[in-house]
Amino acid sequence: MGEDIEVIRDKNSMRNWSRTRRAQGEKICLVPTMGYLHRGHLALVEEAKKRAPRVVVSIYINRAQFAVGEDLSTYPSNFEGDLNKLKDLGVHTVFFPSDLYVREDNAGAGHGQANIASRYISCLEGKSGNGHETWIRVEKMETPLCGKSRPIFFRGVATVVAKLFNIVEPDFAVFGKKDYQQWRLICRMVRDLDFSVEIVGCGIVRDCDGLALSSRNVHLSPKERQDALSICRSLNRVKDAVCDGQIHTGILECSVLEAVRNAGAKIDYVEIVDQETLRHVDRIDLPVVLCVAVWFGGVRLIDNIELQPPTY
Ligand code: AMP
Repeated sequence: MGEDIEVIRDKNSMRNWSRTRRAQGEKICLVPTMGYLHRGHLALVEEAKKRAPRVVVSIYINRAQFAVGEDLSTYPSNFEGDLNKLKDLGVHTVFFPSDLYVREDNAGAGHGQANIASRYISCLEGKSGNGHETWIRVEKMETPLCGKSRPIFFRGVATVVAKLFNIVEPDFAVFGKKDYQQWRLICRMVRDLDFSVEIVGCGIVRDCDGLALSSRNVHLSPKERQDALSICRSLNRVKDAVCDGQIHTGILECSVLEAVRNAGAKIDYVEIVDQETLRHVDRIDLPVVLCVAVWFGGVRLIDNIELQPPTY
């Protein structure tokens, strides 16, 4: 068992804590999470420990990235369990704010159910116009892939990450490549807005059967979980096909579509894109990433695999 863990709930206390440590010459590494921690999150913490002696894990379910009608209300949480896991890893400090936004009284209300319009309204916003209204948009990178079906998602992500950077003032921040678009978009935001933080990307952590770990996996039935293995299996088959010389992305994407559809998935997207720009490519002659978002039952799962051009 590790030592006691300090839970900081107030923004100003968090900033004072960081400034005191930095004044003493200590480096700080931030690991932003929404909690319900699994081995994927813990791998980020291990990476953070290599970068800096002071690791801050933030646990905050960011309502600004959920559209009305998405799964904010069922997003899993287990704060005590999370603390125990972090204690075991020797983490000393957790930032656990109750709310990071100035809220309107009627936030999220009055926008109807999960209709088309609600995709453009987050669970943060209301109608009175006196609440939070400043957003960061990474204009091109936020639009493809997850941005198509979740048009306000990355606006919420970029904004809350910027807020966390302003509050924690870390030297480093660790993100998982499981959320590939998110990782690239945060790198772009940091570059474009001169944030003084180095972003570290960590590989995807999978269960022993290959399923990418996700807090949302807890909502899969045993059958859905089994069917969902079609995702990682088809990604691995694509990797083999590319090694064997197949570089036409249309053919590779179709093979994944067919495999996951046959396993019962509803497709959001299956796309091969440039690793840096996230723009779709027709041929693999530069480093690309195959990104997948599909639904099994009521659970939306994302996964991806980085692919290099074949070496002949
Ligand atoms: P979340 O709590 O889902 O918002 O995730 C917090 C961080 O953990 C993000 O940077 C995710 O990309 C990362 N993460 C989540 N699942 C995994 C995984 N299976 N492998 C690696 N990183 C992950």
